[in-house]
Amino acid sequence: MRIVFAASEVLPFAKTGGLADVCGALPVELEAAGHEVSIIMPYYKEVGVKKVFNDRAQVDVIGQDIKVYFIKHKAFFGRSSLYGDNMNDYPDNLERFAFFCRQALELLKEIGKPVDIIHCHDWQTGLIPLLLKAPYAGEAFFSATRTVFTIHNLAYQGVFPKEEYAKLGLEEKFFNDSQVEFYGKVNLLKAGIVFSDYVTTVSPQYAKEIQTREWGCGLEGVLQSRKGRLAGILNGLDYERWNPERDVFIDPAFSARDQLAKKIHREKLQKVAGLPVLADIPVFGFVGRLCYQKGFDLIEGAFEELMHRPIQLVFLGVGEKKYQELLKKLARKNPQRFAALVRYDEDIAHQVYAGADFFLMPSVYEPCGLTQMIALRYGAIPLVSGVGGFLDTVSDCGVNKKQGNGFVLSSYSVSGLLEALDRALGLYNQKEKLAALIAQAMDCRFTWQSSVKHFNEVYAACRS
Ligand code: ADP
Repeated sequence: MRIVFAASEVLPFAKTGGLADVCGALPVELEAAGHEVSIIMPYYKEVGVKKVFNDRAQVDVIGQDIKVYFIKHKAFFGRSSLYGDNMNDYPDNLERFAFFCRQALELLKEIGKPVDIIHCHDWQTGLIPLLLKAPYAGEAFFSATRTVFTIHNLAYQGVFPKEEYAKLGLEEKFFNDSQVEFYGKVNLLKAGIVFSDYVTTVSPQYAKEIQTREWGCGLEGVLQSRKGRLAGILNGLDYERWNPERDVFIDPAFSARDQLAKKIHREKLQKVAGLPVLADIPVFGFVGRLCYQKGFDLIEGAFEELMHRPIQLVFLGVGEKKYQELLKKLARKNPQRFAALVRYDEDIAHQVYAGADFFLMPSVYEPCGLTQMIALRYGAIPLVSGVGGFLDTVSDCGVNKKQGNGFVLSSYSVSGLLEALDRALGLYNQKEKLAALIAQAMDCRFTWQSSVKHFNEVYAACRS
């Protein structure tokens, strides 16, 4: 099939989170499975690709022959960040991404090769399925084109005041509560969900959760109405990129059968984080966006208790000011035990995964989560809350004695966190058991190949 990905961030060109990992890796796997794949994304300042495709797009290639087209618009995309500055979204995000969606379709017409599937990702591309069902509906070029819409995080919906609806250039009739309207506002994620031919999300568990009142973020009814065409397909991990046996960011290499170097990495991490280099104290790592989702209220609530335990914690992340300040404050309170590295740093991220004994992810909700998969691959045993993609990837080693690979909090609470952490500390002192668990964790695989099988079924269903 001829498949086009439309996304607001794609590795290696621009990244703020897991969306970029997915949109960089999945096309390559689809190409390997025999599809003809291309990608369209905005031409941000940081992209820097020199090759011009035409006056509206630059172009590059990834994989064997995946053309990546970058939509140009200096005023919209030539900015310092992707979505906002100083922790605020850019005020013209609706215009920026509506422009991107329309230009993506225009570009496809210019390229002139009919497309079977446009695979859209998150609210920034939510307008594409609607454009194809409405203003572009009569166009012969798109008559056989179907759309798949993947929700990477339901909490980010692209909601704008109703006055902005006019900027979408759509007929008034779509602004109703079963289509684009959401409590009197414009909701671009909802447009993607309603108008696409198939909706997917990033784990089977999250697909169930988003249809409930608790986790549906107000869209549970719309999602339930699409349940016959809603699939939860677990994200894969790029095991070429995340491989402690061949990782350019870390030296020496290590593997499930030869874990000795993990000690060296723990020491290096303690140095990088500015913590005292202590030999026998477990290090708990965290890498991620600093936002409510990632469970910082638990970390704050448990802080005093955590400091009574023989552990060190290293947090690497950027995000909301409130959480950046919180982490810095906690680090000031106990600089011997708590390190806050408030930045985006690929190199240090690899060092955290390699050097941490345990990996802390007490998320409030988690659509899929890649960091726990990466942590597993690097032998940092994950401690996760019992939600979303965690339940599809981490199995508690106390419950599942044979195939467990981590610790799952019994409840989202300070006591749940401390209880899991104490069990982890108990294991840390049983060196043989710990080594066996690390080996088991490092051997876990969540491959794109198995996800591709599901996507093939989804693409086929769209066309039947
Ligand atoms: P989300 O999509 O919610 O941001 P994921 O767990 O799916 O979270 O993916 C996060 C990705 O971003 C991982 O590849 C992680 O290593 C990376 N990442 C997040 N924050 C940072 C940071 N501060 N420095 C380097 N890499 C980061």
